[in-house]
Amino acid sequence: MNGVAETSRPRIHQLPPNLVNRIAAGEVIERPASVVKECVENSLDAGATAITVEIDDGGKALIRILDNGNGIPAEDLPLAFASHATSKLTDDADLFAIKTMGFRGEALASIGSVSFARIVSRTPDSDGGCEITNRGGEMSPVKAIGANVGTSVEIRDLFYNVPARRKFLKASGTESGHIADAILKIAIARPDVSFKLLSGGRVSLDLPATAPVLRWLEAWPAEYAQSKLDLDVESDGICLRGIIGLPELAMPHLKNQYLFVNGRCVRDKFIGHALKEAFRGLCEPGRNPAAVLMIELSPELVDVNVHPTKSEVRFRDSSRVHGLVLSSVRSLLLGNDLVPRAKPQASFGNVEPVARTSMREQLASFFRADVGTPTSHSSGPIAGGHYLPDVPVAGSTGGPPHDPPGAATSYDSDPREAGSTSVPQTGQVLVAQNATSAIQLHNSYLVAESDDGLVIIDQHALHERIMFEDLLARVSRGPLESQRLLIPLVVSASPQQIDALEMLAPIFAQLGIEAAAIGPDAVAVHAFPSFLEKLDPAAFVKDVLEKAETESARLDHETLLHDTLDMMSCKAAVKAGDPLTPEEIRMLLQRRNLVDRASNCPHGRPTTLKLSLRDLEKQFKRTGF
Ligand code: ADP
Ligand code: MG
Repeated sequence: MNGVAETSRPRIHQLPPNLVNRIAAGEVIERPASVVKECVENSLDAGATAITVEIDDGGKALIRILDNGNGIPAEDLPLAFASHATSKLTDDADLFAIKTMGFRGEALASIGSVSFARIVSRTPDSDGGCEITNRGGEMSPVKAIGANVGTSVEIRDLFYNVPARRKFLKASGTESGHIADAILKIAIARPDVSFKLLSGGRVSLDLPATAPVLRWLEAWPAEYAQSKLDLDVESDGICLRGIIGLPELAMPHLKNQYLFVNGRCVRDKFIGHALKEAFRGLCEPGRNPAAVLMIELSPELVDVNVHPTKSEVRFRDSSRVHGLVLSSVRSLLLGNDLVPRAKPQASFGNVEPVARTSMREQLASFFRADVGTPTSHSSGPIAGGHYLPDVPVAGSTGGPPHDPPGAATSYDSDPREAGSTSVPQTGQVLVAQNATSAIQLHNSYLVAESDDGLVIIDQHALHERIMFEDLLARVSRGPLESQRLLIPLVVSASPQQIDALEMLAPIFAQLGIEAAAIGPDAVAVHAFPSFLEKLDPAAFVKDVLEKAETESARLDHETLLHDTLDMMSCKAAVKAGDPLTPEEIRMLLQRRNLVDRASNCPHGRPTTLKLSLRDLEKQFKRTGF
């Protein structure tokens, strides 16, 4: 072996426990709210029925969690701060059937390594309490002290020795908001326990023990209580309980959707998808249903040891859970009266018909103004008086059919995979210049002849896709034209939403939206895209802020821009049930032939169902088989 390499290569060595803990803290303890979550879960595991959390300066200066649980015996106290030390697991088998919130034995060790922490605890059978402190990993001896039965965990100066993390913490209002959210998430699943949060001495959350439905409703704005359906089903050992909001409560953000698996609040794409599917066709596709869903199943059927913060789970049979959620929520919805309650004010997504007509006119002039700078798919002569841009006479663009002969009834293939440039659409629709080339069924579907058969088109989904593509093309050429509001509109906003505003600034600039924070809980909208002038700028900005707040961590600039354009197009597009004039139908079909990715709406749902002549011939038994 080469001597130089031998001396320069650092030797492998075991890390000291304190460094191990600090590394673990990097995963488990992201911010004050993570400390609160871990400690409140410990209190629940200790059988507490009353838990109080006190914080100062958003938890950055102080976090104190007080409970009336069964305490920690004096001789175990030093172990509470030790890493991989837990009273909740004893052997391998336990790990595959977790019945407690905690089990990893690393939260207190992590917290102790990055703060000044102190535990005072007393078990029911001891005469007094004891105390232990941990200063960034340096533990004191256990000392006797007067205390009530239960445990108090006190954390001061979180991240005092991790400057990078400390600097990353947000304003105390934002951190307090995260703490309240963390407590609420835990409390929703435990209506039998009372929870209280005091922030700077003021009560900011007070949840006395109550009936399950009343506690679940705490997850939603108060007025939602009028528009909920109760879910309670059991099938094959899986129990589903909770409240489901009527379709009118579905929102672009996910803030009113809470999923719990065995009492643990989790993110789960399978369950989220099942919920969305259950609402298919009942609410706008971009919206997320309001739901508080409790799934209980035997702990052997779900792995909770997937994520350090335990925010994800893995089902042994996820398709069974998916199927049960989908079918029970769907039948709950279909078995009830879903007619929306009258709303006091027209919101962005619920614009009066008159307002929508003028909105469509606005959109028309916006798109007409576009013809000066043609793109691959939005050029064309100006159409008079309509909200859709006109296009050259169709048929001229119709390509040969792309379907393999004999294909069964099918959705248009998804051309997104073929790249982002103009892709010839299969089944080009034949549109004569002065004729109505399609019929409109139920004011929702267009049935038209295509070059190789016929197509059935979902008018909303198609219009939404067309608008999305046009807006995207416009935005990529420069900011949308914007109009200053005479009087700025003020929208209330949470501290997290005000933080999100910073991230949204470049997108707002592209869209011609000017919005700025005014004070700690409000945002003023100063300018709005002129073509959307008839829409409520305040409601739109609020929707975008809410979406950004809940999903910011996962969204890059492009996704966020697309999502926002998607919201605009979804709201502005014709809806199912809107009658269209023959001229509007004609233009919609013409645009379909030119626009990129017309086969799917921006959410990926198909816009078009296709039947080829060949299929028809087969169905009518005109061919030999
Ligand atoms: P885990 O919860 O994964 O076991 P923690 O580091 O969170 O790990 O806690 C370590 C141990 O300290 C727990 O297993 C429990 O025995 C004890 N403990 C922590 N908080 C409390 C509490 N509030 N009441 C009683 N015991 C507690
Ligand atoms: Mg724990």
